[in-house]
Amino acid sequence: MAFERIGIVGGGQMGAGIAEVSAKAGVDVIVREINDDLADAARARVVKSLNRAVERGKLTADDRDAALGRIRFLSELDAMADRQLVIEAAVENEAIKAEIFGSLDRIVAADDAILASNTSSIPLTRIGRATNRPQSVVGMHFFNPATVMPLVEIVHSVATSEATATRAAAFASETLGKVVVHAKDRAGFIVNLLLCPYIFEAIRMCESGFATKEDIDAAMVNGANYPMGPLALSDLIGNDTMLAVAESLHAEYGDARYAPPPLLRRMVEAGMLGRKTGRGFYEYG
Ligand code: NAD
Repeated sequence: MAFERIGIVGGGQMGAGIAEVSAKAGVDVIVREINDDLADAARARVVKSLNRAVERGKLTADDRDAALGRIRFLSELDAMADRQLVIEAAVENEAIKAEIFGSLDRIVAADDAILASNTSSIPLTRIGRATNRPQSVVGMHFFNPATVMPLVEIVHSVATSEATATRAAAFASETLGKVVVHAKDRAGFIVNLLLCPYIFEAIRMCESGFATKEDIDAAMVNGANYPMGPLALSDLIGNDTMLAVAESLHAEYGDARYAPPPLLRRMVEAGMLGRKTGRGFYEYG
């Protein structure tokens, strides 16, 4: 059964992107934010992205309007009652996610609805524990920007049923056209477990004065053929998200490679979150 009605909790970078991809695929979408102003901001994020696609000739104005017409942006979580799939993409904070899933468990009516999280590093088992239906809780880990990046990691907790994982994977691959890989519920899954130590090492290099941020990024772009350097990538992902991921990885494995570099922590404390706040390792207009 394909999903016709989905919900997204959190309309930040990731939530807005997942909403856009889904609406373009013809799905009816509700995006829930904390309040009406943030719901408006989520809408503005999607409008900006769709307009950019039209300007670049990747989307017609009619298709943009149709996609936008399929998304409602609001602040009432109760609106999720009739959803067949809800993808949570709120901040990377276990207590907040647990509260959201506890509420979704009470609100989402269909027994066979799927409750997914886009978490980068929080164990799905712990998120599922906040519900009375852990078999229906699964990770759907999209990549940033979700409108462009092909991958979705489907993360199976110890309690996730095969049917849940199969249906979530089918939505990602068949409805959204994404490339799907499967991973067990260990912090970082496949991509972040490989990618994050690399980014943290680059931050430590920058912090120790070993090389400048520009040289570190230029080295990896020109020497390893990466599309962007590790510090620019941390700014793109969000330095607050990187810090949260570091804390989860370090708590899970206890390995110094995953410990949050102090510079990353100081930058987050200073509000230098990267592109989303206009300043991180670099400044953005
Ligand atoms: P973001 O800060 O851009 O957006 C988070 C949004 O969640 C904010 O708009 C905030 O207002 C909203 N929010 C917080 N609590 C909420 C609640 N109770 N109900 C509804 N909305 C709420 O962060 P993001 O980069 O979009 O990350 C969101 C999630 O996606 C995190 O779990 C993160 O780990 C994961 N993720 C991020 C990336 C990335 O590259 N940024 C990639 C994959 C996964």
